[in-house]
Amino acid sequence: MRFLIVEDNFAARRLLQRYLSGYGVCDLAAEGNEAIEAFRQALDEKEPYDLICLDIMMPNMNGHETLKLIRRIEEERGIYGLDGVKVIMTTALGDSKNVIGAFREGCEAYIIKPIIKEKLLMEADKLGVKILSSEVILKK
Ligand SMILES: [Mg+2]
Repeated sequence: MRFLIVEDNFAARRLLQRYLSGYGVCDLAAEGNEAIEAFRQALDEKEPYDLICLDIMMPNMNGHETLKLIRRIEEERGIYGLDGVKVIMTTALGDSKNVIGAFREGCEAYIIKPIIKEKLLMEADKLGVKILSSEVILKK
């Protein structure tokens, strides 16, 4: 499993990394431009991410712009619908403009901070990122 955590706040970034690092490789980006670079590189290397956790309020390129660009890059490469990366917005912004906007731009889930580990894992699992079931298998 490969994860990309996009978050400008160091503590929040580290927290998400702690939540997910037991289930796969976590790459980290502190803002949108870095995220796009990582995303492109992963596609080039044929090791695409399974899940991106994407903050909205970030310097340079915010989460909305980043999400739009991710979906545009996928489109350019012929990646559509279910083959695209799963994106969960992880943000303090809970107003309908941001939530509806993000879904329109192509996110699959939206979690409002503070992020609880169980909630994140549950949402990822619902999207078919088989974190919880892989944990069950590992425990056997
Ligand atoms: Mg932020």
